[in-house]
Amino acid sequence: MAQFLADRLAGLVQSDIRRMTRECMRVDGINLGQGICDLPTPPLVRDGAIDAILEQKSTYSYPEGALELREVIAEKLARDNQLNVDPMTDIVVTIGATGAFAATLMALLNPGDGILIFEPYYGYHLNSAVVAGLDPQYVTLTPPEFALDVDRIEAAIQPHTRAMVVCTPSNPCGKMFSRAELELLAEIAHKHDLLVITDEIYEYIRYDGRPHISPATVDGLWERTVTIMGLSKTFSITGWRLGYAVAPAELARPITLVNDLFYVCSPTPLQHGVAQGFHAPQSYFDSLQTDYKKKRDLTCDALRAAGMEPIVPQGAYYVLADISKRGYGSAREGAMDLLERGGVASIPGSAFYNGDTGEGLLRFCFAKEDAVLEEACARIRNFGSA
Ligand code: GLN
Repeated sequence: MAQFLADRLAGLVQSDIRRMTRECMRVDGINLGQGICDLPTPPLVRDGAIDAILEQKSTYSYPEGALELREVIAEKLARDNQLNVDPMTDIVVTIGATGAFAATLMALLNPGDGILIFEPYYGYHLNSAVVAGLDPQYVTLTPPEFALDVDRIEAAIQPHTRAMVVCTPSNPCGKMFSRAELELLAEIAHKHDLLVITDEIYEYIRYDGRPHISPATVDGLWERTVTIMGLSKTFSITGWRLGYAVAPAELARPITLVNDLFYVCSPTPLQHGVAQGFHAPQSYFDSLQTDYKKKRDLTCDALRAAGMEPIVPQGAYYVLADISKRGYGSAREGAMDLLERGGVASIPGSAFYNGDTGEGLLRFCFAKEDAVLEEACARIRNFGSA
């Protein structure tokens, strides 16, 4: 049989995030691996989409998204992110934040360009960059603070470096970049003329009163930043695949062009559903913080009791836990042992590191209904004492 495989896929394999979901289904475990987020869809969002279907809003939207949605996104950006943008020119609605990220890379960077990626990283950032022909350049952040180290960034930058990825709150470690850190990043971005690509999909899921700061609002970064946000986590609709990119018109235009070529547009009725969601009262968005804090604390307590010390996250709905004392040969081995004997799926830390730092870590997702999470935590405690 003839072999067809693009060079750009050389060495790429399916993410451990997906692999662990399959393994979990095989043993009928509780899936704290993939960030599925199977909480109920807010009725406002669900009914908005149903109404749009009943009203026959079934044809293409603009490639940059339905105007009604872009207008509410612009209002939300002004209200919650201190970003004042023009909904006519500065917003592109995409197939999830992942679609926004891929379209941005294809639209604004060239094969061979270097892109700075902080590790631990979200594997889709890395692999999308590789598929786009970019050269990933890693900057390792050290737990528990994952604080920014300017010398490490400067050391990673090469003449062909053209961009940096800033994921805040971060998947997988929950780090939230402070204003002071973003100011440092801004200085570096200006000095080396870098494009800043953010991933702020977890912006509403944060703890202990920490504010979310959009990098584009810091020290003139707007001009060189593509702000990426998503609806999957905010409205628990990971399967709807809706996100958006926000950028100055000169950057948003080519992103729209790629979005049109690859996807034509995002699903129209679903766009109308999420447009309704943004009319939810402030209490809805606030409740994300309080609800997830309970889930975070429950999960961290169970991990601690099981001897897998959690690196308590500042935001997002994942926690990295240290399994290095359990004597596994690799994180994959640890994850499989916990799944086979404990009935709980997690993601091996190696999925988030280029080097071997991740081999002593597992990532747990706590975006689960309370009863399911409680059962998972009981299993983790049992596993620890077995
Ligand atoms: N963002 C989620 C995670 O990190 C889901 C990723 C995916 O399924 N591709 O688990």
